[in-house]
Amino acid sequence: MPPGWDAVDPADLQAVLQFALDTFDPNIALASSFGLEDVALIHALIGLNPDARIFALDTGRLPEDTYECAERIQERYETKIEWYFPNTTAVEELERTKGLYSFRASVENRVECCGIRKVEPLNRALADKAAWITGQRREQSVTRFGLNVLESDAAHAGIWKFNPLADWTLDQVWAYVRAHDVPYNRLHDQGYPSIGCAPCTRAIAPGEDERAGRWWWETPEHKECGLHNRKGQS
Ligand code: SF4
Repeated sequence: MPPGWDAVDPADLQAVLQFALDTFDPNIALASSFGLEDVALIHALIGLNPDARIFALDTGRLPEDTYECAERIQERYETKIEWYFPNTTAVEELERTKGLYSFRASVENRVECCGIRKVEPLNRALADKAAWITGQRREQSVTRFGLNVLESDAAHAGIWKFNPLADWTLDQVWAYVRAHDVPYNRLHDQGYPSIGCAPCTRAIAPGEDERAGRWWWETPEHKECGLHNRKGQS
């Protein structure tokens, strides 16, 4: 673990983020898909450092509400989002050879699309970072069961990965967002607790898992896009 981490209370959001910034800024950034957890973290992070870095992946298939949320966040916090786009040639090749909805045909095809639109841009975003911050929570899915507040990211050259909300419940995140009047994605009010690309996200029914609306045609253990692969996951 980085020096000084032993003295940090991992349940203290402000302390975790302050440690992350003190130790790694400016070689650290928050990865935002403008989900509820991400906007909560943006509020906390900008409160500690108005120049804290935030990046986002524009897959080309995001819902309009996500773009509008990003814009409202930029205006509210007077920050600049560092957007990353997929490789143009790779997307052109994918769509010309397999069409616009190849990801529905098989897990392999879906992983291929996520690889082009998300994983490769993420790898570029992290290439110059020593650490990153995510909004993952343990209770979101079976694939995040063993999540820690601070981990070494084996999928990205062992850089540090802070998951400050790992132990939070969805209700806690909502309480934080409402308490601070943080702008959030309007899709959350329409039954979408987890929001990704438009064609791969749907609203969930009461009682369903939070990520049941992501790639709903797949089984739960496959429901990661490759951004947060951990040891033992494909
Ligand atoms: S979530 Fe769907 S559209 Fe987005 S990159 Fe993955 S497979 Fe492609």
